[in-house]
Amino acid sequence: MSRTQTARLMDGTALARRTVARSAATAAEITRRTGTAPCLATVLVGDDPASVTYVRMKRSRCEKAGIRSRQLALPATTTTAELVETLTGLSRDPEVHGILLQHPVGPHIDERAAFEAIAPHKDVDGVTMRSFAAMSFGLPGFVSCTPGGILRLLDEYDVDLAGKRAVVVGRSAILGKPVGMLLLARDATVTYCHSRTTDLASVVSEADVLVAAVGRPRFLRGADIKPGAVVIDAGYHPGNVGDIDVDTARERAGLITPVPGGVGPMTIAVLLAQTVDAAMEQTAPGIALDAG
Ligand code: NAP
Repeated sequence: MSRTQTARLMDGTALARRTVARSAATAAEITRRTGTAPCLATVLVGDDPASVTYVRMKRSRCEKAGIRSRQLALPATTTTAELVETLTGLSRDPEVHGILLQHPVGPHIDERAAFEAIAPHKDVDGVTMRSFAAMSFGLPGFVSCTPGGILRLLDEYDVDLAGKRAVVVGRSAILGKPVGMLLLARDATVTYCHSRTTDLASVVSEADVLVAAVGRPRFLRGADIKPGAVVIDAGYHPGNVGDIDVDTARERAGLITPVPGGVGPMTIAVLLAQTVDAAMEQTAPGIALDAG
């Protein structure tokens, strides 16, 4: 009798808890030695409910880890020039160690110009062109948080990427493109798919490692997944639904991230880890690096 395979779940909640605990220990050590806790400035433009929730969640996690947060809530009418001025001010403020501009900022704002106003040494969300270039060249710098969290999860589950076929569905600047670059740096053979990709199902079916970053609920189905593949679902939609059809995907994949409890918690964990690293670099470079 043939048995249906059930993929092992990659527990992002547990890994994030351990990662945050290490960041909290380092934050406490920085505070003890310098008298100042690491500080993350969060900048929110407008009152999009999802963005408000994300920023609140990030601030709350920061506080629990001993990281101060400074919240700037700007009106939806904020112009590009005003936002750039705010971010430039935070970049110069020695009391702020990391800066997070919550995406999206609204269609009337030049988001790229705003991101580029963040000083690279405070770019703990990994959104500037310089951070992207450093990551792509394998040079020191901050990585985009969701891709960074995905790589930590793959490492936690000892996924050997060298020589593997990795397919990334999605090519956004904050997710699809950088995760592909990180997989390439680990010697995976990377294919990007996007809205103009033809015969997506056949490309997906070749993936040893599949990253779904499409932004469409239950978009990728189990029937197209290679048996035993490692499946990373970066998507998040109301009702705890990802970009993968989890019920059918679990019957084919070897390892899979759940939604929630997979990629999401790791994104915040990397943000905190990078904020602590930034604070250490700026205030106490002698303390051993946060290995989390
Ligand atoms: P995005 O900017 O909207 O990008 C979506 C990508 O999917 C684009 O590259 C688009 O192609 C591609 N795409 C759209 N329709 C497609 C189709 N029919 N076939 C193939 N590709 C298609 O989204 P994002 O910001 O990268 O986010 C993606 C998902 O990840 C969302 O569900 C979001 O909620 C989630 N997310 C989660 C976290 C987290 O912390 N867990 C963080 C960030 C994002 P084109 O480039 O051709 O338009």
